[in-house]
Amino acid sequence: MNRKYRKTLIAGNWKMNKTPSQTKEFMTQLKAIMPKGRWCDIALCVPAVCIPAAVRAMRETRVGIGAENCNANPSGAYTGEIAADMLVDAGCKYVIIGHSERRAMGETDADVNAKVLAALNEGLIPIVCCGETLEQRDADVTAEHIAMQIKLALQGVSEEKIRKVVIAYEPIWAIGTGRTATPEQAEEVCEHIRTVVRKLYSSKHARAITILYGGSMNEKNAYDLLAQPDIDGGLIGGASLVPEKFVQIIEAANQPVM
Ligand code: PEP
Repeated sequence: MNRKYRKTLIAGNWKMNKTPSQTKEFMTQLKAIMPKGRWCDIALCVPAVCIPAAVRAMRETRVGIGAENCNANPSGAYTGEIAADMLVDAGCKYVIIGHSERRAMGETDADVNAKVLAALNEGLIPIVCCGETLEQRDADVTAEHIAMQIKLALQGVSEEKIRKVVIAYEPIWAIGTGRTATPEQAEEVCEHIRTVVRKLYSSKHARAITILYGGSMNEKNAYDLLAQPDIDGGLIGGASLVPEKFVQIIEAANQPVM
């Protein structure tokens, strides 16, 4: 982390877990144990039907609510889809875009790019995911693959709008597997992502962008991952479903300012 130049963000990704009633229960428990200090931003990205309950429960708190996906189109005949302005109107501040689980369902780099532009256009903070498979890591093409994903995701994003983007490095082999990247492995790729942003924009933009690590981050490994200079927070799946674990990760982000 480097809180001097950029924001730290601890973000949960609930995936397809919890009902609206369970959301209300979770938020009540979370509020009761939420740390008072303001060393990081906090987000919870929840299933679409849970957004109203989450927003209502966290209205007076510093927890921003997010969605897990959005459609790239502003409106129209897209049955079952949700547009970015609907999320804003529902009270969302964040939206996860390009999660590997959605890419596995057919989402392309072009889709990711269109969604990033739509989210930014409506004032949402997109948490743009990238990450390599185990085969790509073993074939030594991680850096190349990540650079390509980032370049394609950010096509057409202006210098002004890039300030609103958060990037999440999520090695696919570490998501939901209990197998975390080592702090060194995660740092190497996050540093690389910052270099890619530097080349696409400028040193100033690269220094200011928040880059998260995601992949089996939990209350035990969070401190060491967050101690890395280019890891500015976490995107947390499983551990964000348990208030106590999520709070311990928030506490792990309370590290000396570099
Ligand atoms: C995720 O879903 O983005 C994620 C990182 O999941 P987990 O923490 O469960 O590996």
